[in-house]
Amino acid sequence: MSAGALPPWPLANGRRETSGARSFVQATGTAWRNAHNFSGGPGALPHSVLEQLSRAVHEVTGVGLSLLGISHRSEWFQEVVWEAETTVRDLLGAGDEWTVLFLQGGASLQFSMALANLGCAKHTAVEWVRAGYWSARAMREAACVCAPRVAWDGQDGGYRDLPEWAALDRREAVLHYVSNETVEGLAFDQAPPRCDGQVVVCDMSSDFLSRPIQLAAHDVIYAHAQKNLGPAGVTVVLLRTELLERVPAGLPPMLDYREHARAGSIYNTPPVLAIYTMLLVLRWLRTEIGDLHRMSAMNAAKAATVYAALDARPDLYAPHARRAKRSAMNAAFRLTEPSREAAFLAAITDAGFAGLEGHRSLGGFRASLYNALSLDAAQDLAEFLLSWSL
Ligand code: PMP
Repeated sequence: MSAGALPPWPLANGRRETSGARSFVQATGTAWRNAHNFSGGPGALPHSVLEQLSRAVHEVTGVGLSLLGISHRSEWFQEVVWEAETTVRDLLGAGDEWTVLFLQGGASLQFSMALANLGCAKHTAVEWVRAGYWSARAMREAACVCAPRVAWDGQDGGYRDLPEWAALDRREAVLHYVSNETVEGLAFDQAPPRCDGQVVVCDMSSDFLSRPIQLAAHDVIYAHAQKNLGPAGVTVVLLRTELLERVPAGLPPMLDYREHARAGSIYNTPPVLAIYTMLLVLRWLRTEIGDLHRMSAMNAAKAATVYAALDARPDLYAPHARRAKRSAMNAAFRLTEPSREAAFLAAITDAGFAGLEGHRSLGGFRASLYNALSLDAAQDLAEFLLSWSL
């Protein structure tokens, strides 16, 4: 279909552009293509955050320096870290029984670091839910520090489904799972029930703060920022404070949770820009959205809109995940006619949508609907999906 046939487009001031995607891109520069960024990550950030950030790159109010040149030892930055930590705690209802850390190295470092800090050794069996690309990759990397045992495997089924927790034979001291499989678009709707003192570790990189979290079901949670929280560069780790006692001696300090906890997440030079941006996003969540229940309802509405469009055209689209396990964050799908994928990509890009290519491991397409993506954007995508033809 031509761009001119598209529905009206939302503009920053709430007006809707009626003359098609091309003209809105021209009229507003790159900002509004950004608003239609369906990338799997790094994802879209709220417009108000981008505006504040661009001002701060020039000068942080009250400090008189560029954000990029402010010392991480300054009082200002210590307050930034404090407020970010406090806001994460508030949003989750996490008291002192939880330690909150802001670390570097991405979620990938946590694949092994989390287990090393739990005192796992090469021979320590760790139960692994291998339900998608990221849990499989995490398992390979964790094998450097422990002995993962696959407790449930989605590989043969092409990672289209997730287990019911009751089906798992849980007998090891530690369990690792990924709450939202970013590539395949699979999400657990419940955390694992508690089981005989088993320590539960969860990679929440792609759904952290997109919905309420069952904190009581977890012991270690890690999530990088670049989906729902900010830019790449910072990874949030929440762990039960009592677990710090388990950290074995002899870890390199940069890999030791205790060092980071003692230093209040300022052990070495932290990514000031990433942490400050995360703070702006956290404030946005708090003041413009409200709380995680509201965020979750908004995300559910976006997901329902996009999946409804995909389901309405089974002649064109084949969603990847089993319906009951679909993620609200990532809708992965293929065309029923794979030879038309290049044409579809060209049309959707031409219409002003960005980031819809599927992950390199799966191909096809993926609409990521992270927190900052608006319902308007999801509706525009749904209308495009409904009106496109082979
Ligand atoms: N876990 C999940 C669920 C992810 O989606 C990703 C990346 N998209 C990672 C881990 C790896 O994250 P990083 O690039 O920060 O190491």
